[in-house]
Amino acid sequence: MTIANAYPVTQTIRTIGILGGGQLGMMLAQAAMPLGYQCVFLEDSADCPASLYGRVFSSEQLDAFIEAADVFTLEFENTPTETVEQLANLSKSGSKQGMFPPTIALDIAQDRLKEKQMFNSLDIATVPFVSVSSEAELQQACHELGLPIVLKTSRGGYDGKGQFVIRTDRDIKAAWQELKDAVTGTGSLTQTPAPLIAEGFIHFSRELSIIAARGQNGQVRCYDLVENHHHQGILAKTQAPAIGTSHLFKQATDAITNVMNHLGYVGVMALELFVTKDARGNDTLLANEIAPRVHNSGHWSIEGAVTSQFENHIRAVVNLPLGDTDNVYPAIMINILGQYPDISAVLNIDGIHYHSYHKAERDDRKIAHITLMPNDVADLEPALAKLVALLPNKVGLDKKVTPINNPATAEDDLMTAKVKADVKHKKSLVDDDEQQNFESANSKADKAKK
Ligand code: AMP
Repeated sequence: MTIANAYPVTQTIRTIGILGGGQLGMMLAQAAMPLGYQCVFLEDSADCPASLYGRVFSSEQLDAFIEAADVFTLEFENTPTETVEQLANLSKSGSKQGMFPPTIALDIAQDRLKEKQMFNSLDIATVPFVSVSSEAELQQACHELGLPIVLKTSRGGYDGKGQFVIRTDRDIKAAWQELKDAVTGTGSLTQTPAPLIAEGFIHFSRELSIIAARGQNGQVRCYDLVENHHHQGILAKTQAPAIGTSHLFKQATDAITNVMNHLGYVGVMALELFVTKDARGNDTLLANEIAPRVHNSGHWSIEGAVTSQFENHIRAVVNLPLGDTDNVYPAIMINILGQYPDISAVLNIDGIHYHSYHKAERDDRKIAHITLMPNDVADLEPALAKLVALLPNKVGLDKKVTPINNPATAEDDLMTAKVKADVKHKKSLVDDDEQQNFESANSKADKAKK
Protein backbone atom coordinates (compact mmCIF):
# COMPACT_ATOMS: atom_id res chain seq x y z
CA MET A 1 0.00 0.00 0.00
CA THR A 2 1.39 3.42 -0.91
CA ILE A 3 0.21 6.34 1.19
CA ALA A 4 0.17 9.64 -0.68
CA ASN A 5 2.43 12.30 0.86
CA ALA A 6 3.68 9.93 3.55
CA TYR A 7 7.17 11.41 3.05
CA PRO A 8 8.39 14.91 2.33
CA VAL A 9 8.89 15.11 -1.45
CA THR A 10 12.56 16.00 -0.87
CA GLN A 11 13.21 12.76 1.02
CA THR A 12 14.94 10.53 -1.51
CA ILE A 13 15.73 7.75 0.94
CA ARG A 14 12.70 6.01 2.36
CA THR A 15 13.78 2.43 2.89
CA ILE A 16 17.03 1.19 4.40
CA GLY A 17 18.12 -2.33 3.40
CA ILE A 18 19.91 -4.09 6.25
CA LEU A 19 22.09 -7.17 5.72
CA GLY A 20 21.11 -9.41 8.64
CA GLY A 21 17.98 -9.48 10.77
CA GLY A 22 19.09 -10.20 14.33
CA GLN A 23 18.55 -8.02 17.39
CA LEU A 24 20.96 -5.40 16.07
CA GLY A 25 18.81 -5.07 12.95
CA MET A 26 15.73 -4.92 15.13
CA MET A 27 17.14 -2.06 17.21
CA LEU A 28 18.32 -0.22 14.08
CA ALA A 29 14.76 -0.41 12.75
CA GLN A 30 13.42 0.85 16.09
CA ALA A 31 15.69 3.88 15.75
CA ALA A 32 14.92 4.43 12.04
CA MET A 33 11.12 4.58 12.45
CA PRO A 34 10.84 7.85 14.40
CA LEU A 35 13.12 9.51 11.84
CA GLY A 36 10.69 8.50 9.09
CA TYR A 37 12.52 5.53 7.57
CA GLN A 38 11.42 1.96 6.97
CA CYS A 39 13.81 -1.00 7.08
CA VAL A 40 13.89 -4.26 5.13
CA PHE A 41 16.23 -7.14 5.92
CA LEU A 42 18.24 -9.76 4.05
CA GLU A 43 18.12 -12.75 6.38
CA ASP A 44 17.46 -16.46 5.92
CA SER A 45 15.65 -16.92 9.22
CA ALA A 46 12.12 -15.68 8.47
CA ASP A 47 11.14 -15.27 12.14
CA CYS A 48 14.27 -13.33 13.11
CA PRO A 49 13.96 -10.50 15.71
CA ALA A 50 13.94 -7.83 12.97
CA SER A 51 10.93 -9.47 11.25
CA LEU A 52 8.67 -7.63 13.71
CA TYR A 53 9.80 -4.32 12.21
CA GLY A 54 10.06 -4.84 8.47
CA ARG A 55 9.95 -7.27 5.58
CA VAL A 56 12.53 -10.06 5.57
CA PHE A 57 13.99 -11.31 2.27
CA SER A 58 15.93 -14.59 2.07
CA SER A 59 19.31 -14.71 0.33
CA GLU A 60 17.54 -16.21 -2.69
CA GLN A 61 15.47 -13.03 -2.88
CA LEU A 62 18.47 -10.71 -3.14
CA ASP A 63 17.12 -8.96 -6.25
CA ALA A 64 13.80 -8.19 -4.54
CA PHE A 65 15.65 -6.96 -1.45
CA ILE A 66 17.74 -4.63 -3.62
CA GLU A 67 14.60 -3.42 -5.38
CA ALA A 68 12.92 -2.65 -2.05
CA ALA A 69 15.68 -0.47 -0.57
CA ASP A 70 17.24 2.91 -1.40
CA VAL A 71 20.41 2.61 0.71
CA PHE A 72 22.15 -0.31 2.41
CA THR A 73 23.91 -1.16 5.63
CA LEU A 74 24.65 -4.27 7.70
CA GLU A 75 24.22 -5.60 11.18
CA PHE A 76 26.02 -8.91 10.71
CA GLU A 77 29.77 -8.78 10.53
CA ASN A 78 30.28 -12.07 8.71
CA THR A 79 28.21 -10.94 5.74
CA PRO A 80 30.01 -12.09 2.55
CA THR A 81 32.10 -9.18 1.24
CA GLU A 82 30.95 -10.06 -2.31
CA THR A 83 27.38 -9.07 -1.41
CA VAL A 84 28.57 -5.84 0.18
CA GLU A 85 30.69 -5.06 -2.87
CA GLN A 86 27.73 -5.76 -5.18
CA LEU A 87 25.60 -3.25 -3.25
CA ALA A 88 28.45 -0.72 -3.20
CA ASN A 89 28.77 -1.01 -6.98
CA LEU A 90 25.04 -0.33 -7.45
CA SER A 91 25.61 2.88 -5.56
CA LYS A 92 28.65 3.82 -7.62
CA SER A 93 26.53 3.42 -10.76
CA GLY A 94 23.98 5.78 -9.21
CA SER A 95 21.04 3.37 -9.03
CA LYS A 96 21.21 3.24 -5.20
CA GLN A 97 22.32 5.73 -2.58
CA GLY A 98 25.12 3.92 -0.82
CA MET A 99 26.36 0.87 1.06
CA PHE A 100 27.77 1.77 4.46
CA PRO A 101 30.21 0.82 5.91
CA PRO A 102 32.63 0.33 2.99
CA THR A 103 33.63 -3.19 1.92
CA ILE A 104 37.22 -2.69 3.10
CA ALA A 105 36.06 -2.24 6.71
CA LEU A 106 34.29 -5.59 6.57
CA ASP A 107 37.17 -7.28 4.80
CA ILE A 108 39.58 -6.17 7.54
CA ALA A 109 37.23 -6.86 10.45
CA GLN A 110 36.70 -10.43 9.20
CA ASP A 111 40.41 -11.19 9.44
CA ARG A 112 42.26 -10.81 12.75
CA LEU A 113 45.66 -10.72 11.08
CA LYS A 114 44.73 -7.94 8.64
CA GLU A 115 43.05 -6.10 11.51
CA LYS A 116 46.13 -6.15 13.77
CA GLN A 117 48.39 -5.29 10.83
CA MET A 118 46.15 -2.28 10.11
CA PHE A 119 46.30 -1.16 13.78
CA ASN A 120 50.09 -1.34 13.78
CA SER A 121 50.33 0.49 10.44
CA LEU A 122 48.36 3.32 12.09
CA ASP A 123 50.65 3.28 15.17
CA ILE A 124 47.89 1.80 17.31
CA ALA A 125 49.42 -0.65 19.79
CA THR A 126 48.25 -4.29 19.90
CA VAL A 127 49.36 -7.47 21.65
CA PRO A 128 52.47 -8.93 19.96
CA PHE A 129 51.35 -11.35 17.25
CA VAL A 130 52.70 -13.70 14.57
CA SER A 131 51.09 -15.36 11.54
CA VAL A 132 51.07 -19.19 11.72
CA SER A 133 50.48 -21.58 8.78
CA SER A 134 52.17 -24.79 9.96
CA GLU A 135 53.03 -26.67 13.15
CA ALA A 136 56.67 -25.65 12.71
CA GLU A 137 55.63 -21.99 12.51
CA LEU A 138 53.56 -22.48 15.65
CA GLN A 139 56.61 -23.88 17.48
CA GLN A 140 58.58 -20.87 16.27
CA ALA A 141 55.81 -18.43 17.34
CA CYS A 142 55.76 -19.93 20.86
CA HIS A 143 59.52 -19.46 21.02
CA GLU A 144 59.35 -15.88 19.69
CA LEU A 145 56.41 -14.64 21.79
CA GLY A 146 57.08 -16.74 24.89
CA LEU A 147 54.37 -18.84 26.56
CA PRO A 148 51.53 -18.50 27.28
CA ILE A 149 50.07 -17.52 23.94
CA VAL A 150 46.56 -17.46 22.48
CA LEU A 151 46.26 -19.21 19.13
CA LYS A 152 43.25 -17.98 17.13
CA THR A 153 41.78 -18.53 13.71
CA SER A 154 42.10 -15.33 11.68
CA ARG A 155 38.65 -15.75 10.18
CA GLY A 156 35.35 -17.10 11.50
CA GLY A 157 34.91 -17.77 15.17
CA TYR A 158 33.31 -15.22 17.47
CA ASP A 159 32.29 -15.04 21.12
CA GLY A 160 35.51 -16.87 22.07
CA LYS A 161 35.18 -19.72 19.53
CA GLY A 162 38.21 -20.80 17.45
CA GLN A 163 40.75 -19.99 20.17
CA PHE A 164 43.24 -22.09 22.13
CA VAL A 165 45.44 -20.93 25.02
CA ILE A 166 48.85 -22.63 24.84
CA ARG A 167 50.33 -22.65 28.33
CA THR A 168 53.12 -25.24 27.98
CA ASP A 169 54.98 -26.90 25.10
CA ARG A 170 52.77 -29.94 25.62
CA ASP A 171 49.70 -27.94 24.44
CA ILE A 172 51.21 -27.08 21.05
CA LYS A 173 50.21 -30.31 19.25
CA ALA A 174 46.65 -30.24 20.57
CA ALA A 175 46.24 -26.56 19.65
CA TRP A 176 47.51 -27.20 16.12
CA GLN A 177 45.21 -30.23 15.71
CA GLU A 178 42.20 -28.24 16.87
CA LEU A 179 42.68 -25.19 14.65
CA LYS A 180 44.75 -26.37 11.67
CA ASP A 181 41.73 -26.90 9.37
CA ALA A 182 41.14 -23.15 9.37
CA VAL A 183 44.46 -22.69 7.51
CA THR A 184 43.09 -24.69 4.57
CA GLY A 185 39.53 -23.40 5.01
CA THR A 186 38.20 -26.93 5.54
CA GLY A 187 36.99 -26.69 9.14
CA SER A 188 33.62 -25.69 10.52
CA LEU A 189 34.87 -22.23 11.57
CA THR A 190 35.77 -20.83 8.17
CA GLN A 191 35.56 -21.82 4.54
CA THR A 192 38.15 -19.23 3.53
CA PRO A 193 41.75 -20.40 3.89
CA ALA A 194 43.76 -18.04 6.11
CA PRO A 195 46.77 -18.36 8.43
CA LEU A 196 46.19 -18.64 12.19
CA ILE A 197 47.29 -15.81 14.45
CA ALA A 198 49.41 -16.46 17.55
CA GLU A 199 49.10 -13.68 20.11
CA GLY A 200 51.07 -13.06 23.28
CA PHE A 201 48.80 -13.70 26.28
CA ILE A 202 48.15 -10.36 27.91
CA HIS A 203 47.46 -9.94 31.62
CA PHE A 204 45.15 -6.99 31.15
CA SER A 205 43.48 -5.27 34.11
CA ARG A 206 40.24 -4.34 32.34
CA GLU A 207 38.49 -4.76 29.01
CA LEU A 208 37.10 -1.55 27.58
CA SER A 209 35.46 -0.55 24.33
CA ILE A 210 34.81 2.70 22.59
CA ILE A 211 32.06 3.31 20.08
CA ALA A 212 32.04 6.14 17.56
CA ALA A 213 29.93 7.28 14.63
CA ARG A 214 31.36 8.80 11.46
CA GLY A 215 29.14 10.76 9.07
CA GLN A 216 29.38 11.05 5.30
CA ASN A 217 31.09 14.46 5.76
CA GLY A 218 33.87 12.88 7.83
CA GLN A 219 32.65 14.13 11.21
CA VAL A 220 33.43 11.69 14.04
CA ARG A 221 31.56 11.64 17.37
CA CYS A 222 32.72 9.30 20.13
CA TYR A 223 30.78 7.76 23.02
CA ASP A 224 32.28 7.30 26.47
CA LEU A 225 34.71 4.50 27.15
CA VAL A 226 32.79 1.59 28.68
CA GLU A 227 33.97 -1.43 30.68
CA ASN A 228 32.98 -4.92 29.59
CA HIS A 229 32.82 -8.18 31.52
CA HIS A 230 32.70 -11.42 29.52
CA HIS A 231 31.85 -15.02 30.23
CA GLN A 232 33.68 -17.44 27.95
CA GLY A 233 34.01 -14.76 25.29
CA ILE A 234 30.35 -13.67 25.49
CA LEU A 235 29.59 -10.18 26.76
CA ALA A 236 27.75 -10.39 30.08
CA LYS A 237 27.83 -6.82 31.39
CA THR A 238 28.79 -3.31 30.31
CA GLN A 239 29.33 -0.38 32.65
CA ALA A 240 28.92 3.05 31.03
CA PRO A 241 30.95 5.10 31.53
CA ALA A 242 34.00 3.06 32.57
CA ILE A 243 35.05 4.63 35.85
CA GLY A 244 38.58 5.96 36.28
CA THR A 245 39.50 5.90 32.60
CA SER A 246 39.75 9.63 31.85
CA HIS A 247 43.51 9.31 31.28
CA LEU A 248 42.82 6.77 28.53
CA PHE A 249 39.98 8.57 26.74
CA LYS A 250 42.16 10.55 24.34
CA GLN A 251 44.18 7.48 23.39
CA ALA A 252 40.93 5.63 22.65
CA THR A 253 39.25 8.42 20.67
CA ASP A 254 42.44 9.05 18.66
CA ALA A 255 42.67 5.35 17.83
CA ILE A 256 39.07 4.91 16.66
CA THR A 257 39.11 8.22 14.76
CA ASN A 258 42.32 7.20 13.06
CA VAL A 259 40.86 3.83 12.02
CA MET A 260 37.61 5.35 10.76
CA ASN A 261 39.38 8.03 8.73
CA HIS A 262 41.80 5.47 7.31
CA LEU A 263 38.91 3.27 6.12
CA GLY A 264 36.74 6.17 4.89
CA TYR A 265 34.19 4.66 7.26
CA VAL A 266 30.54 5.73 7.47
CA GLY A 267 28.32 4.55 10.33
CA VAL A 268 28.93 3.26 13.84
CA MET A 269 32.02 1.25 14.76
CA ALA A 270 33.21 -0.32 18.02
CA LEU A 271 36.83 -0.75 19.03
CA GLU A 272 37.62 -3.34 21.72
CA LEU A 273 40.56 -2.53 23.96
CA PHE A 274 42.65 -4.06 26.75
CA VAL A 275 44.03 -1.92 29.58
CA THR A 276 47.58 -2.90 30.40
CA LYS A 277 50.82 -1.27 31.60
CA ASP A 278 53.45 0.33 29.38
CA ALA A 279 57.21 -0.02 29.95
CA ARG A 280 57.08 2.79 32.54
CA GLY A 281 54.28 1.15 34.48
CA ASN A 282 51.58 3.57 33.29
CA ASP A 283 48.15 2.46 32.08
CA THR A 284 47.87 2.14 28.33
CA LEU A 285 45.49 0.63 25.78
CA LEU A 286 46.01 -2.21 23.33
CA ALA A 287 43.56 -2.53 20.45
CA ASN A 288 42.05 -6.00 20.14
CA GLU A 289 39.47 -5.75 17.37
CA ILE A 290 36.97 -3.57 15.56
CA ALA A 291 33.31 -4.35 14.95
CA PRO A 292 32.16 -2.58 11.77
CA ARG A 293 28.61 -2.16 13.05
CA VAL A 294 26.55 -1.23 16.08
CA HIS A 295 27.84 -3.18 19.06
CA ASN A 296 26.53 -4.99 22.12
CA SER A 297 28.65 -2.79 24.41
CA GLY A 298 26.70 0.24 23.12
CA HIS A 299 23.18 -0.95 23.95
CA TRP A 300 23.20 1.24 27.08
CA SER A 301 23.15 4.26 24.75
CA ILE A 302 19.46 3.68 23.88
CA GLU A 303 18.53 5.20 27.23
CA GLY A 304 21.92 6.35 28.54
CA ALA A 305 23.16 8.67 25.77
CA VAL A 306 21.65 11.78 24.22
CA THR A 307 21.58 9.93 20.86
CA SER A 308 21.78 6.14 20.77
CA GLN A 309 24.35 4.26 18.71
CA PHE A 310 21.44 2.88 16.62
CA GLU A 311 20.07 6.32 15.79
CA ASN A 312 23.52 7.67 14.97
CA HIS A 313 24.17 4.74 12.65
CA ILE A 314 20.90 5.41 10.81
CA ARG A 315 21.69 9.13 10.67
CA ALA A 316 25.10 8.39 9.12
CA VAL A 317 23.64 5.95 6.56
CA VAL A 318 20.96 8.38 5.36
CA ASN A 319 23.35 11.36 5.54
CA LEU A 320 21.70 13.28 8.38
CA PRO A 321 23.72 15.22 10.99
CA LEU A 322 25.09 13.01 13.79
CA GLY A 323 23.58 13.43 17.25
CA ASP A 324 25.24 14.20 20.59
CA THR A 325 26.97 11.12 21.99
CA ASP A 326 27.20 12.34 25.58
CA ASN A 327 26.28 9.98 28.38
CA VAL A 328 23.24 11.47 30.13
CA TYR A 329 23.36 9.18 33.12
CA PRO A 330 25.55 6.31 34.36
CA ALA A 331 24.14 2.96 33.26
CA ILE A 332 24.81 -0.75 33.46
CA MET A 333 23.74 -3.09 30.67
CA ILE A 334 23.22 -6.77 31.36
CA ASN A 335 22.81 -9.38 28.63
CA ILE A 336 20.11 -11.95 29.29
CA LEU A 337 21.66 -15.25 28.22
CA GLY A 338 19.73 -18.45 27.56
CA GLN A 339 16.68 -18.04 29.77
CA TYR A 340 14.22 -15.17 30.31
CA PRO A 341 13.73 -13.91 33.87
CA ASP A 342 10.32 -13.24 35.42
CA ILE A 343 9.63 -9.90 33.74
CA SER A 344 7.16 -8.79 36.37
CA ALA A 345 9.70 -9.27 39.18
CA VAL A 346 12.40 -7.55 37.13
CA LEU A 347 10.24 -4.52 36.35
CA ASN A 348 9.58 -4.12 40.07
CA ILE A 349 13.08 -2.66 40.30
CA ASP A 350 13.16 1.07 39.55
CA GLY A 351 15.29 2.18 36.63
CA ILE A 352 15.02 -0.98 34.53
CA HIS A 353 14.77 -0.78 30.74
CA TYR A 354 13.91 -4.20 29.33
CA HIS A 355 14.60 -5.16 25.70
CA SER A 356 13.41 -8.59 24.59
CA TYR A 357 14.71 -9.90 21.27
CA HIS A 358 11.71 -12.22 20.82
CA LYS A 359 14.02 -15.22 20.53
CA ALA A 360 13.53 -18.78 21.73
CA GLU A 361 15.46 -19.75 24.87
CA ARG A 362 18.68 -21.64 24.20
CA ASP A 363 21.91 -22.17 26.20
CA ASP A 364 23.91 -18.94 26.52
CA ARG A 365 22.07 -17.35 23.57
CA LYS A 366 21.61 -13.58 23.79
CA ILE A 367 17.82 -13.29 24.03
CA ALA A 368 17.34 -9.89 25.71
CA HIS A 369 19.21 -7.13 27.45
CA ILE A 370 18.43 -4.90 30.39
CA THR A 371 19.79 -1.41 30.95
CA LEU A 372 19.77 -0.29 34.56
CA MET A 373 19.57 3.46 35.02
CA PRO A 374 17.95 4.32 38.35
CA ASN A 375 17.15 7.98 38.96
CA ASP A 376 19.56 8.15 41.90
CA VAL A 377 23.00 6.89 40.95
CA ALA A 378 23.47 5.62 44.51
CA ASP A 379 20.76 3.04 43.73
CA LEU A 380 22.70 1.56 40.82
CA GLU A 381 24.62 -1.09 42.73
CA PRO A 382 21.75 -2.19 45.00
CA ALA A 383 19.48 -2.39 41.92
CA LEU A 384 22.08 -4.48 40.11
CA ALA A 385 22.32 -6.88 43.06
CA LYS A 386 18.50 -7.24 43.09
CA LEU A 387 18.43 -7.81 39.33
CA VAL A 388 21.20 -10.41 39.32
CA ALA A 389 19.37 -12.32 42.09
CA LEU A 390 16.35 -12.62 39.75
CA LEU A 391 18.25 -13.88 36.71
CA PRO A 392 18.11 -17.63 36.00
CA ASN A 393 21.54 -17.41 34.31
CA LYS A 394 24.07 -15.34 36.26
CA VAL A 395 27.23 -16.26 34.32
CA GLY A 396 29.73 -13.45 34.01
CA LEU A 397 27.89 -11.25 36.50
CA ASP A 398 29.95 -12.10 39.57
CA LYS A 399 32.68 -9.47 39.12
CA LYS A 400 31.77 -6.25 40.93
CA VAL A 401 31.31 -3.09 38.92
CA THR A 402 33.39 -0.06 39.86
CA PRO A 403 31.22 2.06 42.19
CA ILE A 404 30.13 5.20 40.38
CA ASN A 405 29.35 7.13 43.55
CA ASN A 406 32.71 6.44 45.16
CA PRO A 407 34.18 9.79 46.32
CA ALA A 408 37.66 8.49 45.45
CA THR A 409 36.73 8.46 41.78
CA ALA A 410 34.72 11.69 41.76
CA GLU A 411 37.64 13.89 40.78
CA ASP A 412 38.52 11.47 38.03
CA ASP A 413 34.95 11.54 36.71
CA LEU A 414 35.08 15.31 36.52
CA MET A 415 38.34 15.03 34.63
CA THR A 416 36.57 12.76 32.14
CA ALA A 417 34.11 15.52 31.39
CA LYS A 418 36.89 18.08 30.96
CA VAL A 419 39.09 15.92 28.74
CA LYS A 420 36.04 14.87 26.78
CA ALA A 421 34.91 18.44 26.18
CA ASP A 422 38.35 19.28 24.84
CA VAL A 423 38.57 16.26 22.55
CA LYS A 424 35.00 16.67 21.35
CA HIS A 425 35.60 20.30 20.55
CA LYS A 426 38.44 19.29 18.26
CA LYS A 427 36.44 16.46 16.74
CA SER A 428 33.45 18.64 15.95
CA LEU A 429 35.49 20.81 13.61
CA VAL A 430 34.17 19.10 10.52
CA ASP A 431 36.78 18.54 7.92
CA ASP A 432 35.39 18.02 4.47
CA ASP A 433 38.72 16.96 3.10
CA GLU A 434 39.15 13.34 4.19
CA GLN A 435 42.79 13.18 3.19
CA GLN A 436 43.61 16.20 5.32
CA ASN A 437 41.67 14.62 8.17
CA PHE A 438 43.60 11.40 7.81
CA GLU A 439 46.93 13.19 7.70
CA SER A 440 46.15 15.24 10.78
CA ALA A 441 45.12 12.08 12.64
CA ASN A 442 48.40 10.51 11.59
CA SER A 443 50.47 13.49 12.62
CA LYS A 444 48.67 13.47 15.98
CA ALA A 445 49.64 9.82 16.37
CA ASP A 446 53.20 10.74 15.40
CA LYS A 447 53.30 13.48 18.02
CA ALA A 448 51.89 11.13 20.61
CA LYS A 449 54.69 8.67 19.80
CA LYS A 450 57.32 11.35 20.32
P1 AMP B 1 38.47 -12.05 20.90
O1 AMP B 1 37.68 -13.08 20.19
O2 AMP B 1 39.78 -11.74 20.27
O3 AMP B 1 37.66 -10.83 21.20
O4 AMP B 1 38.80 -12.70 22.33
C1 AMP B 1 37.79 -13.06 23.24
C2 AMP B 1 38.26 -12.79 24.66
O5 AMP B 1 39.44 -13.57 24.94
C3 AMP B 1 38.67 -11.34 24.90
O6 AMP B 1 37.55 -10.57 25.24
C4 AMP B 1 39.67 -11.49 26.02
O7 AMP B 1 38.99 -11.62 27.27
C5 AMP B 1 40.36 -12.80 25.74
N1 AMP B 1 41.58 -12.60 24.94
C6 AMP B 1 41.65 -12.43 23.60
N2 AMP B 1 42.93 -12.26 23.19
C7 AMP B 1 43.70 -12.31 24.30
C8 AMP B 1 45.10 -12.19 24.52
N3 AMP B 1 45.97 -12.01 23.52
N4 AMP B 1 45.55 -12.28 25.80
C9 AMP B 1 44.67 -12.49 26.82
N5 AMP B 1 43.33 -12.62 26.67
C10 AMP B 1 42.83 -12.53 25.42
